[in-house]
Amino acid sequence: MSTVKTRFAPSPTGRMHVGNLRTALYAYLIAKHENGSFMLRIEDTDQERFVEGALEIIYHTLEETGLLHDEGPDKDGGVGPYVQSERNALGIYKKYAEQLIAQGDAYYCFCDKERLESLRTNVAGKEIAMYDKHCLSLTKEEIEEKLKAGVPYVIRFNMPSEGTTTFRDDIYGEITVPNEELDDLILIKSDGYPTYNFANVVDDHLMGITHVVRGNEYLSSAPKYNRIYEAFGWEIPTYVHCPLITNEEHKKLSKRSGHSSYEDLIDQGFVTEAIVNYVALLGWSPEENREIYSLEELVKVFDYHHMSKSPAVFDIVKLKWMNGEY
Ligand code: GLU
Ligand code: ZN
Repeated sequence: MSTVKTRFAPSPTGRMHVGNLRTALYAYLIAKHENGSFMLRIEDTDQERFVEGALEIIYHTLEETGLLHDEGPDKDGGVGPYVQSERNALGIYKKYAEQLIAQGDAYYCFCDKERLESLRTNVAGKEIAMYDKHCLSLTKEEIEEKLKAGVPYVIRFNMPSEGTTTFRDDIYGEITVPNEELDDLILIKSDGYPTYNFANVVDDHLMGITHVVRGNEYLSSAPKYNRIYEAFGWEIPTYVHCPLITNEEHKKLSKRSGHSSYEDLIDQGFVTEAIVNYVALLGWSPEENREIYSLEELVKVFDYHHMSKSPAVFDIVKLKWMNGEY
């Protein structure tokens, strides 16, 4: 049995949402429960969404809550996080995209905005834009010519258009989708950065991640990942998607609630230990009849097989109780 390796892979796009903290905590607990290792990977290849100060918030929150990572590039004598923009500068993602092109599993796409716009259709009130594989039929010469002329391009994955793809998640079970619904997703964008999806798969493989822990908003794009893993011949990791967190009205916990982020809660006088304890119970229940746990105790008892797939309701009254306010 190989050692369990997990990672927390935040994008620096704002505050540390309660859902992000829970993902980090579950990833940490899954690794530590098995004496495995936990890594931190900053997913900052979407440069437009980058928010000033967000990185500091991530580092600070993980430090305060004790969710310290074990492995990573050596920086200033310490264990640094993996940072995707730095990895991109090393040419890592481009190299793997080119391997897929050579294999026939990916291709250059030179389509401009207008052409892509024209592919948009309205299905049952929803805008969808499936790429039509137009550039897949370009000849070698045509591609060379366009590259030489500096025509902007993206690299797309060549999804199969027939058959089905089955994806397995340890919490949600098996999901099968018809391949005709899988878009030829972009791997490398026209600015040279990899998309979130591609960098995510390449890094999870290169870092030897055994359990991918993340929010269930990524569940629907997950079948596409399997296709990329298969094209490379890489082993597919175990997926653990965490349930949605809602407010008392069963709506997605939003910024307006005033307690959607770790900083909000600290500002309101909650102590770190109570927050971590409470967040652990948002989607997981211990086998024993007990609710108060320290981080060390959580490491001992946390078994992700007892996670739930139904949404967890954020209950501020209960958090107050854990904070010793009653
Ligand atoms: N980078 C994604 C986010 O910030 C997480 C992706 C993942 O954990 O796989 O939400
Ligand atoms: Zn194209």
